[in-house]
Amino acid sequence: MLVRVKSCGICGSDTHLYETDKAGYIIFSGLTKLPCVLGHEFAGVVEKTGRKVTALKAGDKVAVESIMWCGTCQPCKNGAPNQCRNVELMGLSADGAFAEYAAISERYCWKINELEKVYSGDEIFDIGALIEPIGCAYNGIFIAGGGFNPGAAVAVYGAGPIGLGAIALAKIAGASKVIAFDSINERLGIAREMGADFAFNIDKCVPSKKIMELTDGWGAEIQVEAAGAAPVTIPEMEKSMSVNSKIIYLGRAATKTPMYLDALVSGANKIIGSRGHSGHGIFSSIIKLIASGRLNPQKMITARYPFKKVLEAFRASTERTDGKIIVRV
Ligand SMILES: [Zn+2]
Ligand SMILES: [Zn+2]
Repeated sequence: MLVRVKSCGICGSDTHLYETDKAGYIIFSGLTKLPCVLGHEFAGVVEKTGRKVTALKAGDKVAVESIMWCGTCQPCKNGAPNQCRNVELMGLSADGAFAEYAAISERYCWKINELEKVYSGDEIFDIGALIEPIGCAYNGIFIAGGGFNPGAAVAVYGAGPIGLGAIALAKIAGASKVIAFDSINERLGIAREMGADFAFNIDKCVPSKKIMELTDGWGAEIQVEAAGAAPVTIPEMEKSMSVNSKIIYLGRAATKTPMYLDALVSGANKIIGSRGHSGHGIFSSIIKLIASGRLNPQKMITARYPFKKVLEAFRASTERTDGKIIVRV
């Protein structure tokens, strides 16, 4: 299928590909096959379909999964497409969407025409581009993590796009309190707008103490690591787990983190790792939530750039003060 790209978000991974360390190497440590066209959070319009395409037609508006799962390896056949052994990642190991057109298999595309009920014009595509990062939070909390009972206290470390998605989804799913932590004040403001009841600067408080105070000494049932700062966040999370609680580990940190594991035994607590946003009704559920008006992710978008200023958008992303930066192609 040929998709005319309309909106593409800049992901933290993209920023890590743009930034270099002192020796001049890119910071991104995951799978890449460079050079390739970047961009993996996007939405657009189907321009042309191949002979075998059956469910979509030219003119359909689509949001796209960036995990290019194979469908035939063991994990894929067992229902774990995010753990595909032959995975390619759009915009990281295969050509992505900072381009006018992208050639993609139909299986990774989800129709978003119904977002017209709540959004108009090109904003539909901006919102469509957010489904991928929100999907990572959905997968972590509800699919890999098995969700939580309404009434749970949920703490989210890191108010970047995935953390903001976690905040909004936790609120919708019935959290009694959503507590957010970040080191950047602008992001704390966005966290409140996305549904956080409390948002604290992690450099100016002891997060575990805040959580214990706010939960009357009980602790949080769900703690989401979306900061990629495990050596800082895990020791705090360890002190503010309730009983039967879960740490949902989404951030990446290429380093070891010590943890006092007795707390897992005595409290029957769990740590759950998760990656990706494919399968398990993730994209379709998020599209329905947005179309129903219950999930309003537009406040995540804090900047829009035209395609010809894409490099300026990348530079801005290194400041890490924005929620989501969208490039309109
Ligand atoms: Zn990404
Ligand atoms: Zn596979």
